[in-house]
Amino acid sequence: MTSGNCRLCGQKTMLSFEHVPPRTTFNRNTKYSSVAFEEYVKTENPLKNPPKGKIKQGGVGYNSFCKQCNSFLGSEYVPAYKRWVKGGFEILQNKEFELHTYSIKEIEPQKILKQIVSMFLAINGEWYLKSYPELSEFVANKDSKILPDRFKVFSYLTRAENIRYMHHVVLGNFATGNPINCSEIAYPPYGYVLTIDSGNKIQYLNNITEFKNLNKRMDLNINMFQLSTYMPFPLDYRTKEQVEKGIEEGIQTIRKNEKKQ
Ligand SMILES: [Zn+2]
Repeated sequence: MTSGNCRLCGQKTMLSFEHVPPRTTFNRNTKYSSVAFEEYVKTENPLKNPPKGKIKQGGVGYNSFCKQCNSFLGSEYVPAYKRWVKGGFEILQNKEFELHTYSIKEIEPQKILKQIVSMFLAINGEWYLKSYPELSEFVANKDSKILPDRFKVFSYLTRAENIRYMHHVVLGNFATGNPINCSEIAYPPYGYVLTIDSGNKIQYLNNITEFKNLNKRMDLNINMFQLSTYMPFPLDYRTKEQVEKGIEEGIQTIRKNEKKQ
């Protein structure tokens, strides 16, 4: 336990370890290495020679919620979230890029969305709660449908070749010229992107913000892309081949520039 402000109720208290995603959704014994973004940028070919991070065990998580909020999430949303995860695993294939069309029976979309938003609260710092209190209000009030329009949540299926926990960043978007304000989590079988003040669409991703209005148990028909997450950059879903090609071209450009000098 560490001391700090709970990302859900805001209270300054001892914070318990919150698994992201929940421990019971196959995040119990995860052994993972966390590599700083800067280390990747320094490495010439991160696919062939991945930078070695510090190895951690016992599941991915953060000290972000007080004990009370932690158990609130566990009892209110985690059971619904588990069902959603189970459905995703049944669909996931050993492929890099694929559109899946399927239906999941008897899921509770609003609870699933609240769990997902709580995961974004967990991975981001205390400033997040202060800047965007609407997010924690949506999660803390189990009957609330109110998630203002400026917040959008997107999802995709993924094996998460590399798990992705990207804090909130502002990204330039070359296609539209408008920057995207986002945070991203990828852990099998799903990836999620939370955007703030950005558009309604992101290529290949499902906008699941409407889940906020679906507060009942229902069957849902879904079209969802399975995407790859090789590199630690938000919104980068290139296949291994595309990443390798990009790296090779990058190296050649550097060599050419060296020759010129
Ligand atoms: Zn709390």
